Amino acid sequence: MADHRPDWKQRATELNFEHRAFINGQYVGARDGRTFDCVNPANGTVLARVALSGNHEVEMAVAAARRAFDSGDWSGLAPRARATILKRFAALIREHNDELALLETLDMGKPIGDSSTIDAPGAAYCVDWYAEAIDKTPGEVAPVDPKLVGLVTREPIGVVGAIVPWNFPILMASWKFAPALAAGNAVIVKPSEKSPLSAIRLAALAREAGIPDGIFQVLPGDGETGKQLALHMDVDCIAFTGSTQVGKLIAGYAAQSNLKRTWLELGGKSPNIILPDCPDITKAARTAAAAIFFNMGEMCTAGSRLLVHEAIRDAFLAELKTAAQSWAPGDPLDPATSMGAIVDGRQFDKVMAYIGSAKADGATVLLGGSAARTDSGGWFIEPTVIDCPHPQVTVCREEIFGPVLSVLTFRTLEEAIALANDTEYGLAAAVWTANVSTAHQVARRLRAGTVWVNCYDEGGDMNFPFGGFKQSGNGRDKSLHALEKYTELKSTLIKL
Ligand code: NAD
Repeated sequence: MADHRPDWKQRATELNFEHRAFINGQYVGARDGRTFDCVNPANGTVLARVALSGNHEVEMAVAAARRAFDSGDWSGLAPRARATILKRFAALIREHNDELALLETLDMGKPIGDSSTIDAPGAAYCVDWYAEAIDKTPGEVAPVDPKLVGLVTREPIGVVGAIVPWNFPILMASWKFAPALAAGNAVIVKPSEKSPLSAIRLAALAREAGIPDGIFQVLPGDGETGKQLALHMDVDCIAFTGSTQVGKLIAGYAAQSNLKRTWLELGGKSPNIILPDCPDITKAARTAAAAIFFNMGEMCTAGSRLLVHEAIRDAFLAELKTAAQSWAPGDPLDPATSMGAIVDGRQFDKVMAYIGSAKADGATVLLGGSAARTDSGGWFIEPTVIDCPHPQVTVCREEIFGPVLSVLTFRTLEEAIALANDTEYGLAAAVWTANVSTAHQVARRLRAGTVWVNCYDEGGDMNFPFGGFKQSGNGRDKSLHALEKYTELKSTLIKL
């Protein structure tokens, strides 16, 4: 029988990399000619020299967005008409699934088996979902004095800047631009300098779908480009996903400029609690491995702190070590690979430094801890498990954003909950127990935006709001609640 699976390596050689910004309906280079290198982290080769958007490009894009928004050509469309265009956009993303997946894999090192089945299809699904939602989210008629009619409506906010990270480039971008476009806004996407290619390609698909010029623009660039956008007096909202450190800067830029709305999806250090009545230790250990090693641990929701009860600790860790073997790093273009390359040399050094610090802090490396595939020219790290003597060890507190799991042992339920909440973050948490009452009680006490019981990272559908408590940010991506971020509420009172 013929093999119809794509030959990814062959296809990768046939790709063209668009490397310019997309402003007002066309691709343009930076006026001052500046570029940055886009590097394949699996082998260190330069894929493209991408336009570094500066002040001129930011000004051009914001002006085009404002004109396009004010024209009403997008915000003034009937919701059904906007939905039709967005559904065409989603269909085009699907049609170009393999190309977008390849861009993602080459650009940031994730396995092609993931980018082609999770990232690219997830972006199409997200655009579709919000397209379907917009004519099903009515306003309100408020109970009021009978001589009045009181309407409560939502209006698009205007020009939205979406500043996004590199770990799920196309998916994180879609979680911002899909609800923002659906609500009628003009969106400027600023992808990470480590992974700009998929967003740049999306811009042409948006135009082909019929999204008017100026309504969907892409400004590749670095932190300085993002800063200019976030300080701009004519940008009405910044939707940001990235580190807590930069999230705080974004809040400051809003305060220094026009008090633009800021929505911040930030870091995490999520606990995965294994209670002694864990219903299935083998399954829980496999899931704990996936929770930290999926996407090379470059996950805001990574289950990076394993809290395990002393009675089952040894049995659990033995299962975990077995499960970790299926996460050995491999060539991201090989469909059999489950863990790919670390995004770049800087991130690689950061993760390796954390592993070194753990040893210096008196922790024990139970598994991994070294670089892998060192002859590839790329950046790979073994799945790593570190046993920590106490929760003050740096690798138990700081977000590593790599395939490094910190293990802490507890004796009582109270101790487990205290350990779980002993973090500046609050993005996600999980608990494993056979007792439904314990599950509910623990879930209520965990200070996190998402709690999983007897699972991890479930909920790929758009229905659940996604975001954090505490310094994991504010606002929520996904679900109908995300539409609220890109709209202003208006009360209209009509005297009869
Ligand atoms: P980062 O904060 O370094 O960069 C994110 C984006 O901000 C990039 O586009 C970058 O160019 C831009 N940027 C950098 N400095 C800036 C500045 N001064 N002003 C404006 N923009 C600036 O984060 P990263 O390394 O790309 O991504 C990893 C982080 O993202 C992790 O902390 C991770 O937890 C977080 N993350 C959170 C979620 C979530 O939904 N909560 C999802 C994915 C990633």
